[in-house]
Amino acid sequence: MTERYDAVVIGAGFGGLSAALSLAERGARVALCESLKYPGGCASTFARGGCRFEAGATLFSGFDEGQPFRQWIDRHAMDVTVDPIDPMVELRTDTMTLSVGRERESLIAALCAIDGAPVRALRAFFDEQRTVADALWALFREPGLLPPLSARSLLAHVARLPRYAPIARVIGRPARAVLERHGLEGFAPLRQYMDATLQITVQTSSDEAEAPFALSAMDYYFRGTGHVRGGIGSLATAMMRAIERSGGTVRTSDRVSAIERGHDGWIVRARRGEIQAKNVIANVLPEAVERLRGERYDVTTELSQLVASGWGAAMLYLVIEDHPALPEHAKHYELVLDGARPFIEGNHVFVSLSDRRETERAKAGQRTVTCSTHVRAAELRAMGAGEQEAYVRAVQERMRQTLRARSPEVAAAIVRDESASPRTFERFTGRPGGYVGGVPRRAGLAQYARLWPTEVERGLWLVGDSVGMGQSTLATALTAIRTADAITRA
Ligand SMILES: Cc1cc2nc3c(=O)[nH]c(=O)nc-3n(C[C@H](O)[C@H](O)[C@H](O)COP(=O)(O)OP(=O)(O)OC[C@H]3O[C@@H](n4cnc5c(N)ncnc54)[C@H](O)[C@@H]3O)c2cc1C
Repeated sequence: MTERYDAVVIGAGFGGLSAALSLAERGARVALCESLKYPGGCASTFARGGCRFEAGATLFSGFDEGQPFRQWIDRHAMDVTVDPIDPMVELRTDTMTLSVGRERESLIAALCAIDGAPVRALRAFFDEQRTVADALWALFREPGLLPPLSARSLLAHVARLPRYAPIARVIGRPARAVLERHGLEGFAPLRQYMDATLQITVQTSSDEAEAPFALSAMDYYFRGTGHVRGGIGSLATAMMRAIERSGGTVRTSDRVSAIERGHDGWIVRARRGEIQAKNVIANVLPEAVERLRGERYDVTTELSQLVASGWGAAMLYLVIEDHPALPEHAKHYELVLDGARPFIEGNHVFVSLSDRRETERAKAGQRTVTCSTHVRAAELRAMGAGEQEAYVRAVQERMRQTLRARSPEVAAAIVRDESASPRTFERFTGRPGGYVGGVPRRAGLAQYARLWPTEVERGLWLVGDSVGMGQSTLATALTAIRTADAITRA
């Protein structure tokens, strides 16, 4: 039997969950189809061998007062605990260890305390960085100010023009140019901190990153970021329940195989039956939309090329024996084998250790660890099968080497070691080529043209990390909220 909806959302990643919840809250009749048994996609928690692992993403933002996840948790009385961890992350390279606390001042103080640090230049740099970050993070509290711009939001922006002045100075330029202007390009500790933070946020290094995005992303740890108790899957599941309680329909284990034009909207063909809807919101990569539609569009072709300029991920999912030298709470490490080499392909590994209190994550006396690194997915895709396997194995081996060198207390306690590659992400999250993390924010004004909700064809919208605000669970939520606004208005 065919069911009719205002909107069908394909995919329960954080883009799809946020779009479906936003629409359901606005009173729309919405259905959400997810091919897996559980929600979250790249930011999910999966069970294997009696343990629960974070699949990809491990450290989340958007939990400050006024930010989207805090508002949803409160509004829907979600049973989700966000632990305010401290330190946020520990950066360990071949030349330094830097513990990054919850307050930016402690980071600045730690950098200034390094022997020979150019203290005045550092303070001036961070003053400038803060003004840019203040202006841009304010928009995350008020999604109404993000594109599409109404007459009201335009007026609000005009009133804020003085706050945007510091952005004008750096717009269209790489973050490296700001470092150079402050005479800091040779101060390795700051450069390494920036490269480590930027690689996991804006998906590129300080040499390349668009400065306003980069300077804002440097505040990632200080603005509503925390650890979701039990794993991010608990937030994804709570959002799914909130969609249902708000009148929406959620269909898990329901892979969509085609999207076709109907006489009054769209027909979505899914495993559990056909659905008709006025709008389709695809929480998949642009290339996957082309496959589902059996058509190519200029916008999906352009976006697919940009996605292919980004990354895939190689993963290690570890079980370790707990021991007294490990911290009690969840802890995140950025480990770098050689600070002079690019922070990718196992030379840089993001390591997230579960909380000792998360007893459901592993057997008694054990804890789980998720490790990730960036890999060149487009190059990998172009290789033959044997070459692909050798490349991925070499990257995973380098990850283990980096872990042994920089975090021996974790490496020595491993009792189980499983791995994943871009092919795993392709299979589980339906992302062609295994591309993850969206479009790198490389310097250039084109970045600002893509912040609008993306309508591929009338009534067919794209959400997720390849469009709008880009990657991270928070960014995909903001894009989804604006897309729901645009659909409601239309
Ligand atoms: C290794 C790694 C580490 C990361 N670390 C962080 C971090 O610490 N913090 C952070 O905020 N972000 C992090 N990110 C980024 C973040 O995970 C992503 O930007 C975000 O989760 C992407 O969400 P999405 O909704 O765009 O897509 P996805 O998460 O890919 O969701 C898409 C969903 O659609 C489903 N689907 C696909 N095709 C179909 C179909 N045909 N029918 C039905 N369902 C379908 C998939 O199963 C999936 O559930 C990380 C990403 C990776 C890979």
